[in-house]
Amino acid sequence: VFTAATVAAAPEDPLFGLMKAYREDPSDKKVDLGIGAYRDNNAKPWILPVVKKADDAIHNDPTLNHEYLSIGGLAEFTSAAQKLIVGAESPAIREKRICTLQTISGTGAVHLGGLFLSKFHPQKPAVYLSNPTWANHNQIFTNVGLTLEKYPYFSVKTKGLDFNGMMAALEAAPQGSVILLHACAHNPTGVDPTEDQWKQIAELMRSRSHFPFFDTAYQGFASGDLVRDSWAIRYFVEQGFELCVAQSFAKNFGLYGERTGAFHFVSAPSPDAAAACSHIASQLAILQRSEISNPPAYGARIASRVLNDPVLFKEWEADLRTMSGRILEMRQGLRDRLEKRGTPGSWDHITSQIGMFSFTGLSEEQVLTLRSKWHVYMTKNGRISMAGLNTNNIDYFAEAVDSVVR
Ligand code: PLP
Repeated sequence: VFTAATVAAAPEDPLFGLMKAYREDPSDKKVDLGIGAYRDNNAKPWILPVVKKADDAIHNDPTLNHEYLSIGGLAEFTSAAQKLIVGAESPAIREKRICTLQTISGTGAVHLGGLFLSKFHPQKPAVYLSNPTWANHNQIFTNVGLTLEKYPYFSVKTKGLDFNGMMAALEAAPQGSVILLHACAHNPTGVDPTEDQWKQIAELMRSRSHFPFFDTAYQGFASGDLVRDSWAIRYFVEQGFELCVAQSFAKNFGLYGERTGAFHFVSAPSPDAAAACSHIASQLAILQRSEISNPPAYGARIASRVLNDPVLFKEWEADLRTMSGRILEMRQGLRDRLEKRGTPGSWDHITSQIGMFSFTGLSEEQVLTLRSKWHVYMTKNGRISMAGLNTNNIDYFAEAVDSVVR
């Protein structure tokens, strides 16, 4: 029988445990490099100026109320989200073979996609995740009853992409496997395939009839360029793949807590594609109804205002360059400092990796020493959030790394 006493305590989420330890550390030198959210040069959350503007306009808009959105979400938002990810001129939009539902940020989009595949894919194929990947992927796909496999991704030796290992695993995966791909700024490694490598991945995936499932949480945040950061997805769509995309607006709008995201399904070009897509949309709507009824309005209203207004859109692009630019400066600054100190090892991966995170190559033991001796907090796998570095703590952090590496 079920009683409260039959439920064992769950293990603590490692990232939330890390955040708690940081909060409780009384040292005034402490540095938080665990957080997966942007911080400004004063280590404070940053409200994008364009988001503030859109927010003010929403507060003063007498036509808005607190009614439910439709099951699929705010139509102006979902159509703008489509254009942002595949490009406004994409034949997928023109031919009505992309369908989109607003979701509970990127997490909700990955979940909805996983749930859809688990219900409607006749073979219930395994989902191949990069090793390593965003930890939540594992539980999201497991929770909807899909089995997981891994493909090699990060080379400890080069601190770059293990391209050969990845290709060999995709080649060996049973035909028609679902392959989860990070569209840009891979979390946790910061390592992305080059355009040429993406082309080879696409070619191999086509030859094996694999199904691409893109997760995009850093468009515009990675390079500062929205088109560049969506290159891989646009290339796969151009190549005629049937695929899905989980899109988050948490990082690129700084709308973390507003849970703003979208799930897209793109069907392959064919005379029946638009009809197939509308069938899929109708099934997704039923799944969405039973899970959340309808998505939250607030963040989608903000994003939609910006995405649909050319002037605000330009301001947003400038804000994206502010965030990505500061992160790039911190990457360069950290590498320069370590190289100047002659810290053992090579540090060029700090600048070749991209996005919020860097996989430093520090060992678990070094990470723990950094925590106990230097009050520097990062995940045990040696991942640092570049956004946690700033001009006030970068010298201290470089000194700390130097001391634990020697
Ligand atoms: N996917 C990846 C790879 C991520 O790094 C994140 C956030 O850290 C997400 C998805 C989803 O985040 P959210 O649900 O806050 O949009």
